[in-house]
Amino acid sequence: MNRPTSIHAAGCGCDDCHRPDGSIPLDQADEAAIARLVEGAAANDSGEELEVVMTTTLAPGGAPTGIVGTVVVRWDGRTWDVSRHLLAAVSFGPPF
Ligand SMILES: [Zn+2]
Repeated sequence: MNRPTSIHAAGCGCDDCHRPDGSIPLDQADEAAIARLVEGAAANDSGEELEVVMTTTLAPGGAPTGIVGTVVVRWDGRTWDVSRHLLAAVSFGPPF
């Protein structure tokens, strides 16, 4: 399994983008690779701003639980639902 440490620009064909566990072009990144960005395990060297949309829940009575439900990353009309790749690793204090 490729575990890139850097996401490069879409269409990048540098040597590192052909190396396992190196980098990967944004347009070829799968959910697991994008999840690594969200976790901080990979750097966003794509030159692009990626939108991260997270959902959380309110407990009965109204206090934010801080539990993240879904995490979706969006860029240029593409979406990656990285929720299942993040396991329980991601939790945020209120409001996130
Ligand atoms: Zn590259």
